[in-house]
Amino acid sequence: MPESIPFLDELPDLSERLARAKILYTDLDGTLLGRGACLLKDGEGAPTLDAATAAVELNRAGLKVVICSGRNAKQLMEVTRLLGWDDFIAELGTVRRYREGARRVYDAGDWPDGACLPGETPYEAIVRVGALDALRERFPGLIEYHDPWHLDREVTHVLRGNVPLLAAQTVLDTLPLPVTLVDNGIIHPPKHTLVGVTEVHAYHLVPTGVGKQHAIRTDLAERGLARDEAIAIGDSAADLEMADAVGLMVVVRNGLDDPMLRAGCRERTEVGGIAATRATFGSGWRQLAEAWLAARA
Ligand SMILES: [Mg+2]
Repeated sequence: MPESIPFLDELPDLSERLARAKILYTDLDGTLLGRGACLLKDGEGAPTLDAATAAVELNRAGLKVVICSGRNAKQLMEVTRLLGWDDFIAELGTVRRYREGARRVYDAGDWPDGACLPGETPYEAIVRVGALDALRERFPGLIEYHDPWHLDREVTHVLRGNVPLLAAQTVLDTLPLPVTLVDNGIIHPPKHTLVGVTEVHAYHLVPTGVGKQHAIRTDLAERGLARDEAIAIGDSAADLEMADAVGLMVVVRNGLDDPMLRAGCRERTEVGGIAATRATFGSGWRQLAEAWLAARA
């Protein structure tokens, strides 16, 4: 076991904590889904029913699962429906959709009321204040849209490239609306038009103050649920912020390969409540689902 992150089955009070849980917030890519973002493959690409079986078991028990992902609402609407769930949180916590998409809520973080023009989405407002142009002018050839995943978004922009975060933020801080550039880690896009960039990072350009943590807190409040009635599962350092909004944060085993995630776990161990599954990807997800079902039985 790397460092001091306990495995789920090593938590002495696991059953009590899971018995209280009424809702699970789950990341999608690298967590529920295996290689190639496939529900029916493990991390190596071999066929497996683990994730699908776990989803069916939770559905059968009537336990609530809400996807919380960086993907856009259009994508999550389909995934949510395929899995038999109702609600989801898209675009890093900025778009919440309920009843299979019938109700939509945007979260623009620290933006003041009226920051968006009538009928304008926060995504369009970020373009209007010149955030993209400012970054491209300051870092020519070093940052661009993460084509084709940049389309159909309502609040956040997905970019790729390699820019110094602090310098980029200094540029953004001159804009009339608070916008933050978030580094989402190293990616390997099949093609790009960046110039002289060897290590490509994915970036999210978001209204300052948003995140999965804020979205979950707001969602729990709307449902009338307390923090310790919620659990979350993910695979990346960015997912760890969910730990501050739920009673128990679980990391699938493959997430521990990421040094940024391990560092993030160490920072949060005092606060308590992060554990890892022994299996990876959807098989790890199934371990949490089965522990939850056993605790609720
Ligand atoms: Mg992930």
